[in-house]
Amino acid sequence: TPSSEGHRTDDNFKVIVRVRPPLLRELNGVRPYQHTVCVDPSARKIILSENVDAITQAGGPPKDGYMYATYDFTFDRVYDQDDEQEEIYRQSARDSVLSVLEGYNTGIIAYGQTGTGKTYTMEGTMDGSERGIIPRAVEDIFSCIENDPDPSSKYLVRASYLQIYNDIISDLLKEGRHNLLIREDHKRGVYVEGLSEWVVRSPSEVYSLMEQGAQQRATGTTKMNEISSRSHAILIIIVEKSTLLHQESNTEDGKIGGVGWRSQDETKEAPRRVKVGKLNLVDLAGSERVHVTGATGKRLEESKKINQSLSALGNVIAALTDQRPRAHIPYRDSKVTRILEDSVGGNCRTTMICLISPALESFAESVSTLKFANRAK
Ligand code: ADP
Ligand code: MG
Repeated sequence: TPSSEGHRTDDNFKVIVRVRPPLLRELNGVRPYQHTVCVDPSARKIILSENVDAITQAGGPPKDGYMYATYDFTFDRVYDQDDEQEEIYRQSARDSVLSVLEGYNTGIIAYGQTGTGKTYTMEGTMDGSERGIIPRAVEDIFSCIENDPDPSSKYLVRASYLQIYNDIISDLLKEGRHNLLIREDHKRGVYVEGLSEWVVRSPSEVYSLMEQGAQQRATGTTKMNEISSRSHAILIIIVEKSTLLHQESNTEDGKIGGVGWRSQDETKEAPRRVKVGKLNLVDLAGSERVHVTGATGKRLEESKKINQSLSALGNVIAALTDQRPRAHIPYRDSKVTRILEDSVGGNCRTTMICLISPALESFAESVSTLKFANRAK
């Protein structure tokens, strides 16, 4: 799908915000817990205030007369701490996931400070009501494939899983594949050279690949948590759908339907239309500001790389959603934006989910996340 340069793409690129519930460590901190967020779903608004009780009480400024720092933002959708995984998937991810079956490139990108719920929102649990976007997306894709009323449809689903750590792309599903390069050609679009692709036939095959990837991510000296907060992880699902151009021929051939490789007698078949769609499921590195004074050496370099790539992403998204026609979108400024290049512009239906904590101790980070999200809107 060609991108229409100079046209607004904000109908296709959505920004939503989710506030997670306070965690025990926030509720039981040294100071009394202070809530800072007020969510208004019907106005699609989030109000962030150092003293949210003061500003939400009707009737003018707070009684104590102190001017609390207060911010007010509007997004495509906003979710509060009690909103469930199912609702978020259904309202904010499903359309974009299913567009992949129609040959679109799309993505769901989770952005936020470490500990705000990026992984919970993307993965959650693999079963039960706390299933996140990834398991729901994968289930939805396979159930659409199974329920395709056209018996001549054939599908091939492939999955890849990569990590960008310190600006180095590694294959999480094939040991020892590091330093991978990003390429682009007419046929494949943007792709990571040498990244393994695995044919998957069911949700559980995807989950076992993800488990494998998580294990690979955790190896080495650094703990899983630390690595995951300092690297970007992208699960890529590619769906290839082929349908007969002429419905009248060959519908009797029972071997054609279902998931898997093309049937062997393909040469005898009528011409087919093939659509290839790509779904990028992105769990970004923690967006927390790195205090350059505290960091040294490797840590400092790591931090600079994270800041660089997240601000590059912000710039790309801001350019895409800019009202003014613009020829140049700065995709090349980072690896994340390069990989997402053919999945965020034009007709792609990508959603960015920004996560925040409601606690006062995260106030500055929440402000910075909402400002980032607001720019991207
Ligand atoms: P991140 O990936 O952004 O670092 P996590 O997804 O690991 O953050 O979430 C941090 C903690 O908060 C986890 O214990 C997670 O289960 C919990 N959590 C996050 N969002 C929610 C939510 N919406 N509801 C309940 N618990 C949540
Ligand atoms: Mg995480």
